[in-house]
Amino acid sequence: MIPKDTIDKIIDAARIEDVVGDFITLKKRGANFLGLCPFHGEKTPSFTVSPAKGIYKCFGCGKAGTSVNFIMDSQQLSYPEALRWLAKKYSIEIVEREISVEERAAQTEKESLYIVMQYAQRYFTDNMYNNDMGRSIGLGYFVERGFSQDIIKKFQLGYSSEDKYALSREAVKNSYKPEYLVKTGLSILSNQHVEGTPITEKDIFDRYQNRVMFPIHDVGGRVIGFGGRILGSDKKMAKYINSPQTDIYDKSKVLYGLWFAKKPFRKKIMYS
Ligand SMILES: [Zn+2]
Repeated sequence: MIPKDTIDKIIDAARIEDVVGDFITLKKRGANFLGLCPFHGEKTPSFTVSPAKGIYKCFGCGKAGTSVNFIMDSQQLSYPEALRWLAKKYSIEIVEREISVEERAAQTEKESLYIVMQYAQRYFTDNMYNNDMGRSIGLGYFVERGFSQDIIKKFQLGYSSEDKYALSREAVKNSYKPEYLVKTGLSILSNQHVEGTPITEKDIFDRYQNRVMFPIHDVGGRVIGFGGRILGSDKKMAKYINSPQTDIYDKSKVLYGLWFAKKPFRKKIMYS
């Protein structure tokens, strides 16, 4: 395992404009750089690099991310392999370290949280297509707003039903741990749960009800959170509910739509 401080050192050294500049010609354009996207054939440059943010983004194909993501994508490498690739470029020595039992457990738990989120995304999408309310209210909302079927599929949009226990029950029935449903923020722990005792199905209820669901992805395309918009006109309910900060969702680091980075959300994620 690569020690955390070495990872920080590599990421610090790997300036985005420098890393990308090895592969394509970049021209300065204001605070950013612009070039021809290496991921899709184009004649007019739409590939932008922001040194201030340390990220690149293509307005043509939607590829976006950090220096490490760029190497992962362009060299077809995993995350640790990309770090090693960059360490070599910048002559940074990596002294590998054994992973501790605690770290292994934390890693396994994180993986479980990603799996629960993926399940929830499929559940919400399925709910929108295969349930009467989902179709008329959820899908109806998107279609009315001019979202094409392509966009609805691409953004993995969905619908959470009115039933306060719908997702929680279904997930537990499918062997997902109530504890993970709470840790991902999908379910809320009711106050009848006695602290220190195991969390059971009876202790939880859904965070999202009767909302259209927008998954939030990390740069690798994994679902790490959700935004839910209410459809009724109940003034007492919050219009939007977003996932809380969790072990896999660091709100300060994620920008909605970064992974897709394409229309119609393009305006929201400009770095200008
Ligand atoms: Zn591109």
